[in-house]
Amino acid sequence: MSNEQEETAGASALVAKYSVVRALVILGDAWTLLILRSALEGTRRFSDWQNDLGIPKAVLANRLDRLVEARVFRKTPAQEGGKRMEYVLDEAGLDLWEPLAAIIRWSRNWQPPRNETTLWFRHTRCGKACDLVLSCNTCAQPLTPFNTFAEPGPGSGHEQRIEPHSRRRANSAVRHGREALGSPEALALFGDMWAPAIVGSAFRGIRRFNDLVAYLQIPPLVLSMRLKELLAIGVLRRRSIEDSERYEAFHLTRTGLELFPYISMLAKWGDRWCDDGTGVPEIFYHRSCGHQYSPVYRCSVCGERVNRTEVEFLDHHA
Ligand SMILES: [Zn+2]
Ligand SMILES: [Zn+2]
Repeated sequence: MSNEQEETAGASALVAKYSVVRALVILGDAWTLLILRSALEGTRRFSDWQNDLGIPKAVLANRLDRLVEARVFRKTPAQEGGKRMEYVLDEAGLDLWEPLAAIIRWSRNWQPPRNETTLWFRHTRCGKACDLVLSCNTCAQPLTPFNTFAEPGPGSGHEQRIEPHSRRRANSAVRHGREALGSPEALALFGDMWAPAIVGSAFRGIRRFNDLVAYLQIPPLVLSMRLKELLAIGVLRRRSIEDSERYEAFHLTRTGLELFPYISMLAKWGDRWCDDGTGVPEIFYHRSCGHQYSPVYRCSVCGERVNRTEVEFLDHHA
Protein backbone atom coordinates (compact mmCIF):
# COMPACT_ATOMS: atom_id res chain seq x y z
CA MET A 1 0.00 0.00 0.00
CA SER A 2 1.29 3.44 -0.87
CA ASN A 3 2.34 6.19 1.45
CA GLU A 4 -0.69 8.21 2.46
CA GLN A 5 0.78 11.00 4.50
CA GLU A 6 -1.26 13.52 2.55
CA GLU A 7 -4.31 12.30 4.46
CA THR A 8 -3.34 14.27 7.49
CA ALA A 9 -2.40 17.41 5.55
CA GLY A 10 -4.56 20.47 5.16
CA ALA A 11 -6.63 22.68 7.42
CA SER A 12 -10.08 21.58 8.51
CA ALA A 13 -12.84 22.59 6.15
CA LEU A 14 -16.58 22.78 6.71
CA VAL A 15 -18.60 19.74 5.70
CA ALA A 16 -22.29 18.91 5.77
CA LYS A 17 -23.28 17.23 9.04
CA TYR A 18 -23.61 13.58 8.31
CA SER A 19 -24.13 10.92 10.99
CA VAL A 20 -22.40 8.25 8.89
CA VAL A 21 -19.18 10.26 8.80
CA ARG A 22 -19.41 11.10 12.50
CA ALA A 23 -19.72 7.39 13.29
CA LEU A 24 -16.86 6.57 10.93
CA VAL A 25 -14.51 8.95 12.71
CA ILE A 26 -14.81 6.56 15.66
CA LEU A 27 -15.35 3.23 13.90
CA GLY A 28 -13.57 3.58 10.54
CA ASP A 29 -10.41 1.93 11.75
CA ALA A 30 -9.45 -1.72 11.35
CA TRP A 31 -7.96 -2.21 14.83
CA THR A 32 -11.03 -0.62 16.37
CA LEU A 33 -13.31 -3.05 14.54
CA LEU A 34 -11.22 -6.03 15.67
CA ILE A 35 -11.25 -4.78 19.27
CA LEU A 36 -15.02 -4.33 19.17
CA ARG A 37 -15.70 -7.68 17.54
CA SER A 38 -13.82 -9.41 20.32
CA ALA A 39 -15.44 -7.20 23.01
CA LEU A 40 -18.87 -8.32 21.79
CA GLU A 41 -17.66 -11.89 22.35
CA GLY A 42 -16.71 -11.05 25.92
CA THR A 43 -13.13 -9.70 25.89
CA ARG A 44 -12.62 -7.08 28.60
CA ARG A 45 -8.94 -7.11 29.44
CA PHE A 46 -6.01 -5.34 27.87
CA SER A 47 -3.85 -8.47 27.94
CA ASP A 48 -6.58 -10.59 26.33
CA TRP A 49 -6.87 -8.25 23.35
CA GLN A 50 -3.10 -8.17 23.08
CA ASN A 51 -2.89 -11.94 22.99
CA ASP A 52 -5.92 -12.53 20.77
CA LEU A 53 -5.22 -9.86 18.18
CA GLY A 54 -1.45 -9.49 18.28
CA ILE A 55 -2.03 -5.75 18.48
CA PRO A 56 0.91 -3.54 19.52
CA LYS A 57 0.53 -2.26 23.08
CA ALA A 58 0.66 1.46 22.21
CA VAL A 59 -1.94 1.05 19.45
CA LEU A 60 -4.28 -0.86 21.75
CA ALA A 61 -3.92 1.75 24.51
CA ASN A 62 -4.64 4.54 22.01
CA ARG A 63 -7.74 2.81 20.60
CA LEU A 64 -9.15 1.95 24.02
CA ASP A 65 -8.68 5.56 25.21
CA ARG A 66 -10.54 6.84 22.16
CA LEU A 67 -13.33 4.33 22.68
CA VAL A 68 -13.67 5.28 26.35
CA GLU A 69 -13.87 8.92 25.28
CA ALA A 70 -16.56 8.00 22.74
CA ARG A 71 -18.49 6.27 25.57
CA VAL A 72 -18.21 2.91 23.82
CA PHE A 73 -16.33 1.41 26.78
CA ARG A 74 -16.50 2.12 30.48
CA LYS A 75 -13.33 1.46 32.50
CA THR A 76 -14.00 -0.35 35.75
CA PRO A 77 -11.92 -2.25 38.33
CA ALA A 78 -11.88 -6.00 37.66
CA GLN A 79 -14.38 -8.01 39.68
CA GLU A 80 -11.84 -9.94 41.70
CA GLY A 81 -10.37 -6.67 42.98
CA GLY A 82 -6.75 -5.60 42.79
CA LYS A 83 -5.44 -2.93 40.47
CA ARG A 84 -6.48 -4.58 37.26
CA MET A 85 -8.92 -2.62 35.10
CA GLU A 86 -11.48 -3.93 32.67
CA TYR A 87 -13.14 -2.33 29.67
CA VAL A 88 -16.85 -2.99 29.72
CA LEU A 89 -19.04 -2.17 26.74
CA ASP A 90 -21.26 0.73 27.63
CA GLU A 91 -24.63 1.36 26.00
CA ALA A 92 -23.07 3.02 22.93
CA GLY A 93 -20.76 0.01 22.60
CA LEU A 94 -23.52 -2.55 22.95
CA ASP A 95 -25.46 -0.75 20.19
CA LEU A 96 -22.56 -1.45 17.84
CA TRP A 97 -23.75 -5.00 17.32
CA GLU A 98 -26.00 -3.66 14.55
CA PRO A 99 -23.31 -2.16 12.28
CA LEU A 100 -20.92 -5.01 13.15
CA ALA A 101 -23.49 -7.63 12.16
CA ALA A 102 -23.93 -5.75 8.87
CA ILE A 103 -20.18 -5.92 8.24
CA ILE A 104 -20.05 -9.65 8.94
CA ARG A 105 -23.07 -10.31 6.76
CA TRP A 106 -21.71 -8.34 3.82
CA SER A 107 -18.15 -9.67 4.10
CA ARG A 108 -19.24 -13.28 4.11
CA ASN A 109 -22.05 -13.02 1.59
CA TRP A 110 -20.51 -10.64 -0.90
CA GLN A 111 -16.78 -11.12 -0.82
CA PRO A 112 -15.06 -14.12 -2.44
CA PRO A 113 -15.63 -16.95 -1.79
CA ARG A 114 -19.21 -15.71 -1.92
CA ASN A 115 -21.73 -17.58 0.09
CA GLU A 116 -25.08 -15.91 -0.19
CA THR A 117 -26.92 -18.98 0.97
CA THR A 118 -25.12 -19.57 4.25
CA LEU A 119 -26.83 -18.16 7.32
CA TRP A 120 -24.40 -16.41 9.65
CA PHE A 121 -26.62 -15.69 12.66
CA ARG A 122 -28.81 -17.57 15.08
CA HIS A 123 -31.95 -16.06 16.51
CA THR A 124 -32.04 -17.56 19.96
CA ARG A 125 -35.72 -16.82 20.46
CA CYS A 126 -36.80 -19.12 17.60
CA GLY A 127 -33.58 -21.16 17.74
CA LYS A 128 -33.01 -21.05 13.97
CA ALA A 129 -29.99 -20.07 11.90
CA CYS A 130 -31.17 -16.97 10.10
CA ASP A 131 -30.34 -13.91 8.10
CA LEU A 132 -30.91 -10.45 9.56
CA VAL A 133 -33.32 -8.45 7.42
CA LEU A 134 -33.05 -4.66 7.62
CA SER A 135 -36.61 -3.56 8.38
CA CYS A 136 -38.77 -0.55 9.15
CA ASN A 137 -39.57 -0.20 12.85
CA THR A 138 -43.07 1.02 11.99
CA CYS A 139 -44.43 -1.34 9.31
CA ALA A 140 -41.90 -4.20 9.72
CA GLN A 141 -41.32 -4.42 5.95
CA PRO A 142 -37.77 -4.58 4.48
CA LEU A 143 -35.90 -1.34 3.87
CA THR A 144 -33.98 -0.90 0.62
CA PRO A 145 -32.14 1.99 -1.03
CA PHE A 146 -35.10 2.19 -3.43
CA ASN A 147 -37.98 2.43 -0.95
CA THR A 148 -36.38 4.96 1.43
CA PHE A 149 -35.32 8.59 1.29
CA ALA A 150 -33.87 11.22 3.62
CA GLU A 151 -34.78 14.82 4.33
CA PRO A 152 -32.87 17.42 6.34
CA GLY A 153 -33.51 17.12 10.07
CA PRO A 154 -33.32 19.71 12.88
CA GLY A 155 -29.55 19.17 13.21
CA SER A 156 -28.69 19.67 9.53
CA GLY A 157 -26.03 22.22 8.68
CA HIS A 158 -22.25 22.30 8.54
CA GLU A 159 -19.42 21.44 10.89
CA GLN A 160 -15.63 21.19 10.94
CA ARG A 161 -14.27 18.18 9.17
CA ILE A 162 -12.85 15.67 11.61
CA GLU A 163 -9.53 14.06 10.81
CA PRO A 164 -9.53 10.28 10.39
CA HIS A 165 -7.07 7.74 11.80
CA SER A 166 -4.01 7.12 9.73
CA ARG A 167 -4.43 4.27 7.28
CA ARG A 168 -0.95 2.89 7.78
CA ARG A 169 -1.76 1.34 11.14
CA ALA A 170 -4.91 -0.10 9.66
CA ASN A 171 -2.81 -2.04 7.18
CA SER A 172 -1.03 -3.85 9.97
CA ALA A 173 -4.43 -4.69 11.48
CA VAL A 174 -5.45 -6.21 8.17
CA ARG A 175 -2.34 -8.39 8.28
CA HIS A 176 -2.98 -9.42 11.88
CA GLY A 177 -6.70 -9.94 11.91
CA ARG A 178 -7.69 -11.09 8.46
CA GLU A 179 -10.18 -13.75 9.51
CA ALA A 180 -12.15 -11.87 12.12
CA LEU A 181 -14.49 -9.92 9.90
CA GLY A 182 -14.39 -11.89 6.67
CA SER A 183 -11.91 -11.18 3.89
CA PRO A 184 -8.86 -8.90 4.23
CA GLU A 185 -10.39 -6.70 1.51
CA ALA A 186 -13.50 -6.30 3.64
CA LEU A 187 -11.48 -5.34 6.71
CA ALA A 188 -9.56 -2.80 4.60
CA LEU A 189 -12.86 -1.41 3.32
CA PHE A 190 -14.65 -1.14 6.67
CA GLY A 191 -11.54 -0.31 8.66
CA ASP A 192 -11.26 3.02 6.92
CA MET A 193 -13.13 6.25 7.21
CA TRP A 194 -13.15 7.34 3.60
CA ALA A 195 -14.21 4.23 1.69
CA PRO A 196 -17.53 3.80 3.58
CA ALA A 197 -18.11 7.56 3.45
CA ILE A 198 -17.80 7.42 -0.37
CA VAL A 199 -20.28 4.52 -0.44
CA GLY A 200 -22.66 6.44 1.84
CA SER A 201 -22.42 9.45 -0.49
CA ALA A 202 -23.19 7.28 -3.50
CA PHE A 203 -26.43 6.16 -1.78
CA ARG A 204 -27.46 9.80 -1.65
CA GLY A 205 -26.70 10.36 -5.31
CA ILE A 206 -23.29 12.04 -4.97
CA ARG A 207 -21.35 10.20 -7.65
CA ARG A 208 -19.07 12.60 -9.50
CA PHE A 209 -15.46 13.05 -8.53
CA ASN A 210 -15.68 16.79 -7.92
CA ASP A 211 -18.97 16.49 -6.06
CA LEU A 212 -17.43 13.90 -3.74
CA VAL A 213 -14.44 16.15 -3.07
CA ALA A 214 -16.76 19.04 -2.23
CA TYR A 215 -19.19 16.99 -0.15
CA LEU A 216 -16.73 15.01 1.94
CA GLN A 217 -13.81 17.49 1.79
CA ILE A 218 -11.68 14.49 0.92
CA PRO A 219 -8.23 15.19 -0.52
CA PRO A 220 -8.44 14.40 -4.27
CA LEU A 221 -5.48 12.05 -4.17
CA VAL A 222 -7.08 10.02 -1.37
CA LEU A 223 -10.37 9.96 -3.28
CA SER A 224 -8.61 8.60 -6.38
CA MET A 225 -7.03 5.81 -4.35
CA ARG A 226 -10.24 4.86 -2.57
CA LEU A 227 -12.23 4.88 -5.81
CA LYS A 228 -9.64 2.57 -7.37
CA GLU A 229 -10.01 0.17 -4.42
CA LEU A 230 -13.81 0.30 -4.49
CA LEU A 231 -13.77 -0.41 -8.25
CA ALA A 232 -11.32 -3.29 -7.69
CA ILE A 233 -13.48 -5.05 -5.09
CA GLY A 234 -16.58 -4.56 -7.23
CA VAL A 235 -18.47 -2.13 -4.98
CA LEU A 236 -18.53 0.68 -7.57
CA ARG A 237 -18.54 0.79 -11.33
CA ARG A 238 -17.49 3.67 -13.51
CA ARG A 239 -19.85 5.25 -16.02
CA SER A 240 -18.94 7.84 -18.57
CA ILE A 241 -21.71 10.33 -19.09
CA GLU A 242 -22.00 12.62 -22.07
CA ASP A 243 -23.94 15.67 -21.02
CA SER A 244 -23.19 19.28 -21.94
CA GLU A 245 -19.77 18.20 -20.73
CA ARG A 246 -18.26 14.76 -20.48
CA TYR A 247 -17.75 13.36 -17.00
CA GLU A 248 -17.44 10.14 -15.07
CA ALA A 249 -19.81 8.99 -12.38
CA PHE A 250 -19.29 6.20 -9.85
CA HIS A 251 -22.32 4.00 -9.35
CA LEU A 252 -22.94 1.29 -6.79
CA THR A 253 -22.94 -2.24 -8.19
CA ARG A 254 -25.25 -4.91 -6.79
CA THR A 255 -22.48 -5.76 -4.33
CA GLY A 256 -22.27 -2.10 -3.41
CA LEU A 257 -26.04 -1.77 -2.95
CA GLU A 258 -25.80 -4.64 -0.45
CA LEU A 259 -23.90 -2.22 1.83
CA PHE A 260 -27.18 -0.39 2.51
CA PRO A 261 -27.77 -2.16 5.86
CA TYR A 262 -24.29 -1.17 7.02
CA ILE A 263 -24.66 2.48 6.03
CA SER A 264 -28.16 2.56 7.57
CA MET A 265 -27.00 1.10 10.88
CA LEU A 266 -24.01 3.48 10.97
CA ALA A 267 -26.37 6.41 10.48
CA LYS A 268 -28.59 5.11 13.28
CA TRP A 269 -25.62 4.78 15.62
CA GLY A 270 -24.24 8.19 14.66
CA ASP A 271 -27.68 9.78 15.18
CA ARG A 272 -27.88 8.34 18.64
CA TRP A 273 -24.31 8.63 19.91
CA CYS A 274 -22.66 11.46 17.96
CA ASP A 275 -25.38 14.09 18.33
CA ASP A 276 -24.01 17.60 18.84
CA GLY A 277 -27.13 18.63 20.75
CA THR A 278 -29.01 20.07 17.78
CA GLY A 279 -30.85 16.88 16.79
CA VAL A 280 -30.47 14.49 13.86
CA PRO A 281 -28.96 15.89 10.65
CA GLU A 282 -31.37 13.81 8.59
CA ILE A 283 -34.77 12.22 8.95
CA PHE A 284 -35.32 8.96 7.10
CA TYR A 285 -38.60 7.98 5.49
CA HIS A 286 -39.91 4.63 4.31
CA ARG A 287 -41.75 5.26 1.06
CA SER A 288 -43.72 2.01 1.31
CA CYS A 289 -45.53 2.97 4.53
CA GLY A 290 -44.99 6.72 4.44
CA HIS A 291 -43.54 6.86 7.97
CA GLN A 292 -40.33 8.10 9.45
CA TYR A 293 -38.21 5.09 10.33
CA SER A 294 -35.34 3.84 12.39
CA PRO A 295 -33.88 0.60 10.98
CA VAL A 296 -34.15 -2.65 12.96
CA TYR A 297 -33.26 -6.24 12.17
CA ARG A 298 -35.88 -8.92 11.80
CA CYS A 299 -35.29 -12.67 11.69
CA SER A 300 -35.56 -14.12 8.17
CA VAL A 301 -37.08 -17.32 9.58
CA CYS A 302 -39.68 -16.31 12.20
CA GLY A 303 -40.05 -12.67 11.11
CA GLU A 304 -39.76 -11.30 14.65
CA ARG A 305 -37.63 -8.33 15.58
CA VAL A 306 -34.14 -9.44 16.68
CA ASN A 307 -32.71 -7.75 19.77
CA ARG A 308 -29.06 -7.71 20.77
CA THR A 309 -29.42 -10.34 23.46
CA GLU A 310 -31.19 -12.73 21.06
CA VAL A 311 -28.54 -13.08 18.38
CA GLU A 312 -25.48 -15.31 18.04
CA PHE A 313 -22.85 -14.86 15.38
CA LEU A 314 -22.13 -18.21 13.73
CA ASP A 315 -18.70 -18.95 12.32
CA HIS A 316 -19.10 -22.05 10.21
CA HIS A 317 -15.48 -23.03 10.71
CA ALA A 318 -15.64 -26.76 10.28
ZN1 LIG B 1 -42.36 1.25 6.97
ZN1 LIG C 1 -36.36 -16.10 14.51
